[in-house]
Amino acid sequence: MRALVTGGAGFIGSHLIDRLVSRGDTVVVLDNLSSGNLDFIQNHLDSGKVSLVKGDVTNYQDVLSAMKGIECVFHLAANPDIRLGTKITDTDLKQGTIATYNIVEAMRINGVKKIAFASSSVVYGEDAPMPTPENHGPCLPISLYGASKQAGEGLISSWVGTFGLQAWIFRFANIIGTRGTHGVIFDFIHKLKTDPSRLEVLGNGLQEKSYMEVGDCVDGILHVMNNTDQQLNLYNLGSHDTASVKRIAEIVVEETGCEGASIEYTGGDRGWAGDVPRAMLAIDKMLQIGFDVNYNSEDAIRHTARALIEEIGL
Ligand code: NAD
Repeated sequence: MRALVTGGAGFIGSHLIDRLVSRGDTVVVLDNLSSGNLDFIQNHLDSGKVSLVKGDVTNYQDVLSAMKGIECVFHLAANPDIRLGTKITDTDLKQGTIATYNIVEAMRINGVKKIAFASSSVVYGEDAPMPTPENHGPCLPISLYGASKQAGEGLISSWVGTFGLQAWIFRFANIIGTRGTHGVIFDFIHKLKTDPSRLEVLGNGLQEKSYMEVGDCVDGILHVMNNTDQQLNLYNLGSHDTASVKRIAEIVVEETGCEGASIEYTGGDRGWAGDVPRAMLAIDKMLQIGFDVNYNSEDAIRHTARALIEEIGL
């Protein structure tokens, strides 16, 4: 199959490409390399199985030309920094909502029928029951990033209903693992690299979320797509449990060997305005079609901490 992966030079995208290439797909990557890294996919570019279109998903012409001859789109490109919305209010609108419009419209024009979309647990907002099932509603996100994911879901579902697209929408838990370029573990390692004597933690440390290892995430995407065939398929992808930010800080301190570091909390129930302090996805639907994770949250955190310490270098 010829697949387009937007954001394919990024953290999750590059792992997805490893799987797509190993099953024999030809892959076109559309990426502006704003947070992606070509090193993550260089082996595939060298082998000729993957080609890169350096372009922007906010530019309709870039999207339209990358879409030629594509059978399935994996739409992952987006601003990955939820916190940015507290300072710049149109980034998620452009890189989430408008970009997703560009994708589905270019699919319609080119007759491309299948799309998988990287959405997020944050669409559920903060008043959802935990664990949160896919049919929870209304979804009332509290971050600008979450609003753009919900808008992206709405656009895709409307193109399904109006133009006959087939879609798989995935609401991810917190995805962590090798090649991570952002997120709490990455931040803690960088802070300890700068000052091994103290670790500042945003919030009171009691924020509690579920974490999924990136290999589990991309295996889950492909398993769900291989085993479902509705016009619109909506799946949470997550693990069975949660971990607190306090526990992550302890694990990172331990793994970096900075045992003397004092862990200092800035206070408050969340890291920043728009952060959902407690989140856990119900994963029954994913389990019912025969997919389960290899890592629980804490194992995924330790595995990621070790891998990133090696990648970042202390
Ligand atoms: P990432 O930053 O590593 O990957 C995003 C990729 O998109 C990068 O390669 C970046 O260069 C590219 N990109 C960004 N803006 C672009 C633009 N305007 N045009 C073209 N390319 C652009 O982030 P990730 O963690 O791999 O996230 C991938 C997707 O999964 C995103 O849509 C993200 O919102 C979603 N997601 C991630 C998580 C997580 O925990 N990592 C959780 C839920 C959802």
